[in-house]
Amino acid sequence: MVIKMYFDYTATTKMDEDVLKAYLEIQNKYYANTTSLHSFGQKCNNIYEQMKNEINSILNISDEIVFTSNATEANNLGILGLVGEKKGKLITTKIEHPSVYEVFKSLEKQGYEVCYLDVLDNGQIDLEMFEKEMNKDVSLVSIMWVNNIVGAIQPIDKVIKVLKNYPKAKLHVDAVQGICKIKPTFNFADIDAFSLSAHKFYGPKGIGALVYKKSITLEPRLFGSTAQKGIKPGTFDLGLIVGMTKALKKYYNQITNHYSYVKKLNEYIRTKIVNEHVVINSNDMCSPYILNISIPKILGETVVHIFEAKEMYVSTGSACSSKLRKPEKTIYAMTKNEDLAKTTVRISLSHLTTYDEADKLLEVINSL
Ligand code: PMP
Repeated sequence: MVIKMYFDYTATTKMDEDVLKAYLEIQNKYYANTTSLHSFGQKCNNIYEQMKNEINSILNISDEIVFTSNATEANNLGILGLVGEKKGKLITTKIEHPSVYEVFKSLEKQGYEVCYLDVLDNGQIDLEMFEKEMNKDVSLVSIMWVNNIVGAIQPIDKVIKVLKNYPKAKLHVDAVQGICKIKPTFNFADIDAFSLSAHKFYGPKGIGALVYKKSITLEPRLFGSTAQKGIKPGTFDLGLIVGMTKALKKYYNQITNHYSYVKKLNEYIRTKIVNEHVVINSNDMCSPYILNISIPKILGETVVHIFEAKEMYVSTGSACSSKLRKPEKTIYAMTKNEDLAKTTVRISLSHLTTYDEADKLLEVINSL
């Protein structure tokens, strides 16, 4: 039997067994609507409040938490909610996930001035450009923590420092690929709003969160009830919220162990790539969970299918835009090389990836 080998953990992860158990327990026992006035509804509402408290305590914050269907929704609601009706200047980067980037493109069409920061060849934002672009009219800055294509870790601590001089500018961070994987060098308490997605850290699909300062009133984009501060109104699935919290708690506590295993595994793979056609786009300052390569003579999509024939699953880039067949924008922003950007393949790793799997992966990479 051919064993399936999964190297697409950046796209999504398999739900953890303990998380699944916690989810099912809620579905079986605590299925009342949290807005119902009876004691069963109130018991469920207490669990909901308790989960928000737990997330706050894990991340050492005391913020508002609105649960969404995923991080795409959290990014949209967060950015649009923070922008409101004000027409100040907005700053983001050229390498954001589409759920941030396209929101800014849409705001630009509505007349907002948007600056898309360049990145250096290591994938980090150009901090000099950021400082030059900042002024007192900037109302929102949105910069991702860890890029989902190459794994470049952005200097959020330095961004926070710059923003201390501009108290009117709010900071939104897409924290999806950093949370439960990388130890932050900043405090979440210094960020005005950030987005999370449970299925990236062994939690259930269908749940994300927008976390934001209690002092902020977000402009609502959806209407119908006052549930979840009116930002994500309507009945929610308590099981998903419990599952997300359980996963966050379990994996946040294991960042150091998992990181050091994956870092070594990543280094092992890098040193064993002997195929001279392969260009490694992720440098060693990137998140070790992502290893992005290009093989300039073969389209990324073709490489994905070569791996697939051996029951190995890798990806060309963001699963959300993989069908577009355009040069990959992060790789292009870093390299300015269209060939590299069209032939990019993302291998993503986990503490679950074995050395045996890595050896099988290497056999294919070295034979391309
Ligand atoms: N931001 C980043 C950096 C991501 O990697 C992803 C997932 N591809 C998202 C946002 C969107 O997350 P979701 O799948 O939960 O909508």
